[in-house]
Amino acid sequence: MAKVIIIGAGGVGGVVAHKCAQLPAVFSDILLASRSEDKCVAIAADIERMQGRVIRTAQVDADNVPELTALLEAERPDLVINVALPYQDLHIMDACLAAGVDYLDTANYEPLDTAKFEYKWQWAYREKFERAGLMALLGSGFDPGATNVFTAWIAKHHFDEIHTLDIIDVNGGNHGYPFATNFNPEINIREVTAECRHFENGEFVATPAMSEKMEFTCPEGVGTYNIYRMYHEELESLVVNFPTLKKAQFWMSFGDSYLKHLEVLGNVGMTGIEPVEFQGQQIVPIQFLKALLPDPASLGPRTVGKTCIGCVVTGIKDGVEKTVYVYQVKDHQDCYKEVQSQAISYTTGVPAMIGAKMMLEGIWKKPGVWNMEQMDPDPFMADLNKYGLPWTVIEDYKL
Ligand code: NDP
Repeated sequence: MAKVIIIGAGGVGGVVAHKCAQLPAVFSDILLASRSEDKCVAIAADIERMQGRVIRTAQVDADNVPELTALLEAERPDLVINVALPYQDLHIMDACLAAGVDYLDTANYEPLDTAKFEYKWQWAYREKFERAGLMALLGSGFDPGATNVFTAWIAKHHFDEIHTLDIIDVNGGNHGYPFATNFNPEINIREVTAECRHFENGEFVATPAMSEKMEFTCPEGVGTYNIYRMYHEELESLVVNFPTLKKAQFWMSFGDSYLKHLEVLGNVGMTGIEPVEFQGQQIVPIQFLKALLPDPASLGPRTVGKTCIGCVVTGIKDGVEKTVYVYQVKDHQDCYKEVQSQAISYTTGVPAMIGAKMMLEGIWKKPGVWNMEQMDPDPFMADLNKYGLPWTVIEDYKL
C-alpha cells in the first residue's frame, strides 16, 4: 500500500496512471499532477471509466521548486514518478530531497539551451540522495529502461563477459500523418537531429546524425526496416556499468517520409532551439513547430502496426563466443484498447510503473542515484511478462 505522485499528464503520464490504477494493492493512492490540470482530469475520467478507480489530480509547475516541495510536504507520498519533460528532472529531484521523497524518471536531464543527453548532472546528486537515505531511479522507461535491464539480464544469465551491444528500436507503426512524432516532438527532434555518438574501444566516437544505416528484419513478422545509428542516453551508463563492452551502438527505425520532413524542417531552421525575433516577440522555432504538430497523446486511435525493441549482445561463455537477442513486440492497437494510448507511450509507461513497483515493494531499494542495470534484472523481467510487455530470447542469433 503506497501513495505515489505522478508528475506529467502527457502520453506517457496517461499510461503510467492507468497501469498504476490497475494495481491497487501496490498503488493505493494516486495523485496525477501536471502544469495543465485539465489534462490530468481527462485522464482521471478515463481511468474511472476503464479501470474503475478514482485517482486525484492537482496543478503544479514542477520548475517551481518551492511550489512542488509544498505539494510533496502536504501529500507526503512514498514516491514521485517524473514523466514530465527532461528539463524538469533536477527541479523535481531538488523538491524530492527537500521533502524527503524517493524519485523515479524515464529520461535524463537536459538543459533547455543545449541538447546534450548526459547523466553528469543527475549523477552529481548521488551523495545528496545517499545522505538523505533516499533513492532515485533513473531512466525507467523502455529505452532507456527495459533495454538496460535486458542487457543486465543477458549479461547475468548468458555470458561470462559481454563484448558488444546493439540496441535496436523499431517502430513498425503507421499513424497516417505525413509527419508526427510518437512522443514529445521537441524532445524527439532534439534527440534525432543530435550528432551520433557510439562507443568503441574505450571512447565515444562522433559521426554525423543519420550517417550510418542498415536494414533490419524484425522477428515475428513485424517487417524489414531501415535502422539508423544514433546516440541514446543509456549507452553512457551501460558502458560504465559493463566495462568489458568494446562496442555499444543504438539504432532506430525511421520512415522515408519522416526523414524527408525532418531534413526540410532542419534546412529552413524550424528545428532550431535558439530563440528568434518574430514580430516583436522571441520564439523558439522547435517550440513553435511542436504547437503545429499532432499531439502524440492523440495518435492512439489511428496508429496501427507493432513496435519491436531489443538488445543484441555478443560475448564469451565458457570460452565460446556467442550472440543473444532479447526483444519485445507490442501492437499499437492492443495498447489503445487497454489504456487509450499508442505503443510508444505504452512501452515507456509500463516500465515506469514496474520500476516504481520494485521500489515501493522494497525489491529495488537502496539510497543513492541509480541506473536500471545496477539493480537485479530478474524481478523486473518477470514483471514485464506479467504487466503487458512479454519478451523473447533468441540464443545464437545472427544480426
Ligand atoms: P508530453 O509532452 O506528451 O507530456 C509532458 C507532460 O509534462 C505534459 O503534460 C506537460 O504539461 C507536463 N509538463 C511539462 N512541463 C511541466 C512543468 N514545468 N510542470 C509540470 N508539468 C509539466 O511528453 P511524453 O508523455 O511523450 O513524454 C514524457 C517523458 O517521457 C519525457 O521526458 C520523454 O523524454 C520521456 N520518454 C521516455 C522514453 C523512454 O523509453 N525512456 C520514451 C518516450 C518518452 P502540459 O500539458 O501543460 O504541456
